[in-house]
Amino acid sequence: MKVDRYEIFLDFDFSNGSYKGYEKITLENDEDTTTLDAVRLKILKVKVNGREVDFTQTEDKIIVKTGNFSGGLEIEFEGKVAERRLIGIYKASYKDGYIITTQFEATHARDFIPCFDHPALKARFKLFVKVDKGLKVISNMPIVSVKDEGDKVIYEFDETPKMSTYLLYLGIGNFEEISDQTKKPTIIVATVPGKIQKGKFAMDIARKVIDFYEKYFEIPYQLPKVHLIAVPEFAYGAMENWGAITFRESALLADDSSSVYQRFRVAEVVAHELAHQWFGNLVTLKWWDDLWLNESFATFMAYKSLKDIFPQWDSEGAFIFAETLSALEKDSLSTTHPIEARVRDVFEIEQLFDDISYGKGASVLRMVEGFVGFDVFRRGVVNYLNRFSFSNAQGSDFWNSISEVSGSNISDIMEDWITKPGYPMVKVRVSGRSITLEQERFSLLGNVENLTYKIPITLEVNGKFLTHLMSKEREIIEFESEIKSLKVNVNKTGFYRVFYDTDLVFNAKLSELDKWGIINDYWAFLLAGKISYTEYERIISRFFNDKSFLIVNELSNQLFTLYAINPDKYQGISKEFHRIQLREWRNDKSEVGRLTYSNILHRLAVMDEDFSLGLSEMFKFYDSLDSDVKQGVATAYAVIYEEGSLDDLLQRFRKESFDEERLRYLTAMLFFRKPYLVGNTLSLILSGDVKKQDIPYTLATAAYNPYAKAVVFNWIKTHINFIREAYKGTGILGRRLAEIIPLIGIGMEREIEEFFAKLDMPEGVIGIKSGLELLKAYSKLK
Ligand SMILES: [Zn+2]
Repeated sequence: MKVDRYEIFLDFDFSNGSYKGYEKITLENDEDTTTLDAVRLKILKVKVNGREVDFTQTEDKIIVKTGNFSGGLEIEFEGKVAERRLIGIYKASYKDGYIITTQFEATHARDFIPCFDHPALKARFKLFVKVDKGLKVISNMPIVSVKDEGDKVIYEFDETPKMSTYLLYLGIGNFEEISDQTKKPTIIVATVPGKIQKGKFAMDIARKVIDFYEKYFEIPYQLPKVHLIAVPEFAYGAMENWGAITFRESALLADDSSSVYQRFRVAEVVAHELAHQWFGNLVTLKWWDDLWLNESFATFMAYKSLKDIFPQWDSEGAFIFAETLSALEKDSLSTTHPIEARVRDVFEIEQLFDDISYGKGASVLRMVEGFVGFDVFRRGVVNYLNRFSFSNAQGSDFWNSISEVSGSNISDIMEDWITKPGYPMVKVRVSGRSITLEQERFSLLGNVENLTYKIPITLEVNGKFLTHLMSKEREIIEFESEIKSLKVNVNKTGFYRVFYDTDLVFNAKLSELDKWGIINDYWAFLLAGKISYTEYERIISRFFNDKSFLIVNELSNQLFTLYAINPDKYQGISKEFHRIQLREWRNDKSEVGRLTYSNILHRLAVMDEDFSLGLSEMFKFYDSLDSDVKQGVATAYAVIYEEGSLDDLLQRFRKESFDEERLRYLTAMLFFRKPYLVGNTLSLILSGDVKKQDIPYTLATAAYNPYAKAVVFNWIKTHINFIREAYKGTGILGRRLAEIIPLIGIGMEREIEEFFAKLDMPEGVIGIKSGLELLKAYSKLK
């Protein structure tokens, strides 16, 4: 079957949340019946080349006896705007109203219009939308005309180029806009009323990022305009709809008064979604099996572009933090999957948008680029994009393209990393002049099948760099002189862990990335029970005084997690480390410095009451504080004053309209020491004070409060159906449960396991199982 074009006419009843639709699809089909995807749509009439025909409708399909034909398939239908969900076409509410907006990836265009909802069935889309006068409409392409019709108006949009259904967009509401029309493409930011002044930062970033990509890809951005739309309720971070990118407000809105963290996050998300405009939208994967390629690449490119645009930010460090770290963790559980996964049903697709698809994939791309070099890698990308423009490709096409340019068989080396789950741990033993390398698959609980990988090992021995392709389980490398210093996996570019049977590594000259690699590996070894806590402490305490973004934030994460696991046991060491680092960063005015300081300040406020006591006094001057210290101060205020701070924090939370600030008050109120006060904060979810989109954040943050475990667990138990309904079709809930369960389950292992075992929740099975496995590892540390 070949689909060529959709002409769609939609007449909206904005206040009622419904629409009447008419579409004409031009296609060729040489089969007897034509089957379309359609969910929750009422189909009124179907015509084939002008002749009305019979059809059958099932829960998610329309089957039309068309006979083999080419020409027009016309459908009349009615649709409803979802009130409680955040997918398909839905209402996104804000204080004084709502907008109607869409979110289709992966399989929800079928909730909007009857269509052939498959990424490889690309077509052109021509859209007409009739709405009440006064409402604005945004879609992928620019508006061609707006015509009056009674008390309504009809917006006509320009026709899109060939694209996949999941990239279609429609937004209706009372939008405010700013635009940059200095050159092509026009960049427009749209928000609900009163928020547009915080859109300029993203608009400026977008211009720089588009310039960077146009140079890197050697292909101009393809549409006349790109919208960046802040959606008040949004399940994901953002969505790359071609020419009409949607964001949750906290991933798009920022200005000079925002924290460094906030500005970095906005820049990263904007850069990620813009990368998709080429890699994903112009060239699309054939099927969701290759989702990883789409996401890994956008993830990898985002940090690359930011490194170029903001050299003062530690983009590589941030990349490792956001991507490599969590991928290494999730990939060591039995629930992991190969990067290239086979998917059949909708639940499987949703659950694929995970740390393996994004993080491991992106880390492997970093490994490949490191292997073939920057220029060769880029040339391979450019060729790939040119060859498959306005069409579809698969993973192998990409590797072939890189192989062609590099002259070596990258596909072969990459095969192991793409088709095998997990990753190896390499044991290093030194005796005199020889090094013995042994590999085994790394697993947190030892409950996975052992595998052998082709590992591009990098090492430095007595100060000399060399590479070694390891393919056997055990290999010995001989040297001419006695080995006095060595390190393996230089700069941790390889996606594997190194277990040293020697302290000679500390004789080597270690880069920041090397040190981070050791610290992160030994944390994993601790969790896996491969080393004792004493050995772990011996290794990490070497780095307590290191003033480096990557090392400090890694150690802070580990020690804060230990605190959350058992404050009685780990509070001491965690406080000590954070106090040392607070002094180091207090006067550092660099952006990286302020980001790090902000993080340390907040965590110390949570853990250290003596410290909080002084810090909480600054709440008097809260509004005039630097935004990087605000979180720490608000948290200290909650920790010290408990009930006494509640009214103040709550009122501010309710009054504030920007999410960046709202989330600070919310976060503070999740760290009360008294459990019932945290329970009080959680009840703000049901009252609608906490946005639906922020429910997972709220629960995951509270899980780090060691005094709130039971309260969080009870809340989830009582309201599991409510959150499942809110997150239906997104796959998000399962992924967040993977983070929440291991923390709140400590001390309640049996209850947690029983509760989730009884719960029939297909959309979250992977996340729940991952969470229960991590819980086992954490419980041992308690
Ligand atoms: Zn993406």
